[in-house]
Amino acid sequence: MKLIPCNSCGSNDFNFLYSKSSHLNEFFEIVKCKSCNLVQVNPQPSFEEVAKYYTNDYFTKRTDRGYDNYYSSEIRKEIERVFQLNLSDLNFFKWEKTLKIKKTLDIGSAAGYFVAYMKYKNWDSYGIEISDEPVKFSVETLKQIVFKEDFLKWDIEQKNKFQLITLWASIEHLHHPKETLRKIYSHLEPNGRVIISTCRYGFLARLRGIKWRFLNVPEHLYYYSKKNLVSLCEELGYKVIQQISYGSGLTAKKNANFIYKLTKLFCDRLVKFTNQGDMIAIMLEKI
Ligand SMILES: [Zn+2]
Repeated sequence: MKLIPCNSCGSNDFNFLYSKSSHLNEFFEIVKCKSCNLVQVNPQPSFEEVAKYYTNDYFTKRTDRGYDNYYSSEIRKEIERVFQLNLSDLNFFKWEKTLKIKKTLDIGSAAGYFVAYMKYKNWDSYGIEISDEPVKFSVETLKQIVFKEDFLKWDIEQKNKFQLITLWASIEHLHHPKETLRKIYSHLEPNGRVIISTCRYGFLARLRGIKWRFLNVPEHLYYYSKKNLVSLCEELGYKVIQQISYGSGLTAKKNANFIYKLTKLFCDRLVKFTNQGDMIAIMLEKI
């Protein structure tokens, strides 16, 4: 692990926030950039050092992440419900209707659910993912086209162009988010769009402190505020079309009692209404 310059602004000055243990009992430091305020794990574990956190158990045995088995039909249904809701809130369907050619790439496509979802909606749909098992599941079980590659090393001639590129809860896992967003830009058709969803370092994150539900070290390397994400994208030449936030931090629990369900419903509506959710989704256009 080594201390690296801030990925967004290049500064080397950080304020210490927390030291947090992973489920493998390794400690990681979470710091905030003094220059641009981006919260991040730094010193940063290398690609090889985080690889052991992405074994097959990551997708099948992590009940603390809210799912027992990522490949189950219940989880697929729930994930598709969230896609549908996010796309609707982002006014995506309205834009989709204006398109003549529809080609899309999902980066960090996991089990391939979004690739399949878009294929079903008649898009020419592709995914790219580095983990073995999810790629195998996407290709063999879902019969989707998913490249098992690191996006930053893929198609270096940048011949493939898309109308839409998506990063669903994957930017926070990347070692080089800025470089990835820059490369995405070169793979978009003119006026092509990118959708990014990620956990948001905002009011709820500060309120919950070290107990915030998304401080999953070391898998989550970057914790953007809405401002962090918007300024980074604007710097790279994107224009913000729509942004939303959701999620109160009360996760859906099996066998939850009526009071919990009611509280969750109320809190989820409240944070969405006040735009204080700890998840953000943003749709941007290449200009
Ligand atoms: Zn910075």
